[in-house]
Amino acid sequence: MQLNFIHNQSVASQSGQTWPVIDPSDGQTFDHIQRSNAHDIDMAVKSSRECFEGPWSQLNASERGRLLMALSRKVAEHAEELMRLEQRDCGKPTQQAMADAKALARYFEFYAGACDKFHGETIPYQNGYSVLTWREPHGVTGHVVPWNYPMQIFGRCVGGALAAGNVCVVKPAEDACLSLIRVAQLAAEVGFPPGAINIVTGLGHEVGDALAKHPGIDHISFTGSPTVGTLIQQAAAARHCPVTLELGGKSPQIIFADADLDAAIPVIINAIVQNSGQTCSAGSRVLIEKSIYEPLLARLGEAFSKLRVGPASADLNLGPLIRATQKMRVQGFLEEAKAAGIRTVAQGSVVSEAPETGFYQAPVLLRDVPVDHRVAQEEVFGPVLSAMCFEGEDQAIEMANATAFGLVAGVWTRDGGRQFRMAKRLRSGQVFINNYGAGGGVELPFGGVKSSGHGREKGFEALYGFTTLKTVAIQHG
Ligand code: NAP
Ligand code: MG
Repeated sequence: MQLNFIHNQSVASQSGQTWPVIDPSDGQTFDHIQRSNAHDIDMAVKSSRECFEGPWSQLNASERGRLLMALSRKVAEHAEELMRLEQRDCGKPTQQAMADAKALARYFEFYAGACDKFHGETIPYQNGYSVLTWREPHGVTGHVVPWNYPMQIFGRCVGGALAAGNVCVVKPAEDACLSLIRVAQLAAEVGFPPGAINIVTGLGHEVGDALAKHPGIDHISFTGSPTVGTLIQQAAAARHCPVTLELGGKSPQIIFADADLDAAIPVIINAIVQNSGQTCSAGSRVLIEKSIYEPLLARLGEAFSKLRVGPASADLNLGPLIRATQKMRVQGFLEEAKAAGIRTVAQGSVVSEAPETGFYQAPVLLRDVPVDHRVAQEEVFGPVLSAMCFEGEDQAIEMANATAFGLVAGVWTRDGGRQFRMAKRLRSGQVFINNYGAGGGVELPFGGVKSSGHGREKGFEALYGFTTLKTVAIQHG
């Protein structure tokens, strides 16, 4: 039985209710989390406020940095344990779960170093004045974390928020709580004061909603679906609480005829296969220049047909999807595509040892997908790659920008001028040239435009969002 972690103590929800934890590899319940309610959120917010005004305010920036560094080391020491928790909870193949545990340690390391290097400015003003700006923490920040990358998303938002001097109340997704409860325990062990990191588990529309509406939350960072992002923003707007929203994407990978295809192909595949396509920045559309459309499709198809899906512990190319409803969602998209006459180039296979009760989905490569079809417009959040053909830069830009999203884009070309022209015209928060996703890129600011959300996390830039600016004008004659 898993408990909430509030004020550095493991506590049961006041609701007395629990919720099953399911292993996506076999569909079986193996643990339970607390099904918390608004009372638990209230308790967590009070604890965090006490911390913010008490012990946390006594720490200077370099002391905060040392704590975060100690947590980074502790996470690295416990990487194997965290990897196993995440793997069972989320169905991640071993190497992918291990990469997430290492990324979590790296986030804390990065933000440990950033704490005492973040500062305000002085501003030239009228004679007799000195004007300076202070970067101050918001106070108690709320974090609604999704199930696709619990450790990584916790690292990026909680790491940044703590570095900026905030304290955190975290609501993990009901499908992925285990690693985050453990990380909060590790934080207490290395000396984080009670209330610096509180974890309250439960259902989104219950405890997530209570967090978004709580008047004691001074800033909210949310990663998840556009629909829930709107609800969070509405709740926050009612009390003028700032929010950072990361709402996913329909990211294009654009391949010109002069690209280094040997280098591009494994990257194109990994960008949609990683975490079984359940990635906000998944490269879910591949836009291919006409002269290489058929040969590249053939090579991608060959690679797709070799992809294997199986239980997380088998460490194949793909593990299962997170839950049964996610599998139904992906299959719904595929059925619609089939009904619209969209053809499949190739698909991978689910290995025979995969339990029938697991949530397995073979990766699928679709061709000639119309730009306005749902499968090319919405997040499938599964291993489905939509291939489309373009002629020239203008059409590539038109097609790439033709969705409501704008999170990430990839461009493959050897033409230096085109690299810059494309980067300028693509409407997205990140553009990768001759690579994609930059290996996680803890240092690289991340976030979207349009329906992909607003605000930036990751990198030094995140610290601006996790602080508010105070201008101090002193008249001294
Ligand atoms: P979701 O509902 O947006 O869940 C994201 C987070 O928000 C979870 O912690 C969830 O908690 C919480 N939540 C749900 N309803 C809430 C509410 N009314 N108030 C406050 N918090 C709430 O996403 P999902 O249903 O898990 O996935 C559906 C689709 O969203 C996916 O297929 C995918 O397209 C997209 N998605 C995108 C990302 C991303 O990284 N951009 C991540 C996840 C999902 P519970 O899980 O406990 O309900
Ligand atoms: Mg689970």
